[in-house]
Amino acid sequence: MTATDRPLVRIRGLSKSFGTHQVLHGVDLDVREGEVTVLLGPSGSGKSTLLRCVNHLESPDAGYVEVDGRIIGHRPRGGRLHALRPRALTRQRAGIGMVFQQFNLFPHLTVLDNITEAPVAVRGLPRRQAADRARELLDRVGLAGRQDSYPRQLSGGQRQRVAIARALAMEPRLMLFDEPTSALDPELVGEVLAVMKDLAADGMTMLVVTHEIGFAREAADTVVFLDAGRVVESGPPAHVLTTPRHDRARAFLSAVL
Ligand code: ADP
Ligand code: MG
Repeated sequence: MTATDRPLVRIRGLSKSFGTHQVLHGVDLDVREGEVTVLLGPSGSGKSTLLRCVNHLESPDAGYVEVDGRIIGHRPRGGRLHALRPRALTRQRAGIGMVFQQFNLFPHLTVLDNITEAPVAVRGLPRRQAADRARELLDRVGLAGRQDSYPRQLSGGQRQRVAIARALAMEPRLMLFDEPTSALDPELVGEVLAVMKDLAADGMTMLVVTHEIGFAREAADTVVFLDAGRVVESGPPAHVLTTPRHDRARAFLSAVL
């Protein structure tokens, strides 16, 4: 572990509504550098919305997300916050990798082109250099030699590992995972979790939504339980997973364990 005490992610007073439905109610959350935080909670509790606020796929109604000392989606000017212009937002997002439940690979591009697309288009990396790096990343996720395959020729677990390699190709400071194994056949879950554990052991800062309690127990530094848009438990996995204080956390855990 390379964890330090410095929070890489600071979420303060984060609130978000869709219409009249308030989904997040003033969430405070820190993710320290080099640490893995697992976010648990029932369906509809606001986990995806929280994650999407971190890279500004959703814009908060109140509160803010700070990554590495910078407020996401905004910059201070003259004592007030101003929305970032699209290019500045793209640059900011480039430092935050995200892996979704659905792999979202480009079906018409090879594995290699899926991985090199953003580094070339967004960061202006020379194509050859991006390709060399993509091959290293494929090796790292256990898919050496598959660069010329198309997504349809891969299993779900392989596709999700390509999606992880694609996110890593932008050299993110932070990785967000939103139920990365929920769409997979059970026998393919382990290979994706193994890549995530490897990344965690390597010191990547990660915020992970998952129902895989085993992953939380083994890989998380902190487990946070969200219920109806509020953090109701937060602490080391040994505490939160074995002796949750909150009724809803207890009920959820007894259902998934
Ligand atoms: P979770 O990931 O914990 O299942 P979500 O963050 O996806 O929860 O959703 C929380 C609530 O917000 C749900 O009731 C969902 O229907 C609602 N919601 C999420 N996104 C939108 C949206 N874009 N428009 C309207 N309602 C939304
Ligand atoms: Mg969700």
